[in-house]
Amino acid sequence: IFKGYIEGAPKETDMELRVGKKIKLEAPKGSGALLVKNLYLSCDPYMRGRMRDYHGSYVPPFLPGSVVEGFGVSKVVHSDNQNYKQGDIVCGFTGWEEYSLIYETEQLRKVKPDDDIPLSYYIGLLGMPGFTAYVGFYEICAPKKNEYVFVSAASGAVGQLVGQLAKLHGCYVVGSAGTSQKVDLLKNKLGFDEAFNYKEEPDLDAALKRYFPQGIDIYFENVGGAMLEAVLLNMRIHGRIAVCGMVSQHGTSDPNGIRNLFNLIPKRIKMQGFLQSDHLELFPRFLEEVGSLYKQGKITYLEDMDEGLESGPSAFAGLFSGKNVGKQVICVAHE
Ligand code: NDP
Repeated sequence: IFKGYIEGAPKETDMELRVGKKIKLEAPKGSGALLVKNLYLSCDPYMRGRMRDYHGSYVPPFLPGSVVEGFGVSKVVHSDNQNYKQGDIVCGFTGWEEYSLIYETEQLRKVKPDDDIPLSYYIGLLGMPGFTAYVGFYEICAPKKNEYVFVSAASGAVGQLVGQLAKLHGCYVVGSAGTSQKVDLLKNKLGFDEAFNYKEEPDLDAALKRYFPQGIDIYFENVGGAMLEAVLLNMRIHGRIAVCGMVSQHGTSDPNGIRNLFNLIPKRIKMQGFLQSDHLELFPRFLEEVGSLYKQGKITYLEDMDEGLESGPSAFAGLFSGKNVGKQVICVAHE
């Protein structure tokens, strides 16, 4: 349950676990709804935006005292909708609870179970974060072979796929992350050419000059703040910055105070924000291409799976301190 609007970084105590009353496990007759058993729930940084009393965003705020909502993979237990039957696996918005009633079935996607793909990947690699990496890299970054690519929050749900797609595209790729374990994974498991721990770099500008002596063609921006300011000093002429997210700026009072923006002009840099949800027509192609790359062993995906609904609040808060190693998922039930 979301307790109330917050300031600053989310804490475990911003949500509470409540045992609800026993319900009949069925969808009301004539409602068109589904009663689903939630299997995997997704922790995503954008959910922080729903924890403040602000209605001007692309997603409405959570209601204090109500069940937290997010992406999930669920199994249909009872259906009052002719398009779904008991046992179907669906992916879409659901509640942070063991069972949910879903009325807005148009937003759901049926998942065709595939022995080679873990179901939890449908909220990670083959879900919203993977799709974000796909559209952000191909549509916004407009990459060319041999270009120099930098990814921040590179070991996370989105970043790890951006880096791997960029490598497959023939680019030189460097990632930043906040621990030596993550840096090691980037270099030795995810195939990045180089990686560094930004928390150990006293001077981010100097670090970027070390890894990109020729400058950066593409910056996939996930963090904002000091990293963006340093990147702006190191972009090449006609470089592109895809502004995917600014996780360091959630809850800060002055998220717009970015220095070095002047560099956009002489270097003719294109800096563009985007929302994955504006590109949904590409989703089938993404599923096909990235699913096939995964099955061929050409890409891999790191997941950080916490067990039990009760682990949700701390797993979510952990996104903002870098506790997660890879895509943060909560396993509510194995099936
Ligand atoms: P991650 O799995 O990468 O988790 C968040 C990570 O951000 C943490 O693990 C941590 O890694 C890093 N981080 C947290 N706080 C800070 C900070 N203050 N400074 C620098 N790094 C920090 O999340 P996602 O991959 O799901 O999301 C990545 C970004 O993409 C987010 O900004 C998110 O909002 C955005 N996004 C945008 C979408 C769109 O449509 N535009 C859709 C989906 C996501 P580390 O150890 O490296 O510090």
